[in-house]
Amino acid sequence: MEDCVFCKIIAGQIPGDFVYRSDTVVAFRDIHPAAPVHILIVPTHHIASFADLTEADSDLVGQMVAVANRLAKQEGIAEKGYRVVINVGTGGGQVVPHLHMHLLGGRDMKVRMG
Ligand code: AMP
Ligand code: ZN
Repeated sequence: MEDCVFCKIIAGQIPGDFVYRSDTVVAFRDIHPAAPVHILIVPTHHIASFADLTEADSDLVGQMVAVANRLAKQEGIAEKGYRVVINVGTGGGQVVPHLHMHLLGGRDMKVRMG
């Protein structure tokens, strides 16, 4: 995807602060962190949205979940608790049209969403 900012980060065309890399999933720090820990977990293959996922992607989704949980432990936020968010579509607050999971923690996340 030529114009996709996350595809460019994955391809090394623009910098990313990577905390995890595999052939299928990467994770890098959000450039505008909303919490002390704010990491994006992103499939390497361009998928525009959570809404495009099907059962055929269950392995990939499982890997994303496992990476999020591993990073939560690694970043020291697992014990206190953290938030995982996927914004879906413009009405759902999605700005970057490449599927990503936000991992947020390190501060009080008790504020209700919606
Ligand atoms: P969303 O609103 O769910 O699409 O979230 C997109 C996230 O990507 C936002 O939290 C942005 O701060 C983040 N973001 C945008 N550009 C970059 C970048 N070049 N490197 C890291 N994070 C980025
Ligand atoms: Zn992309």
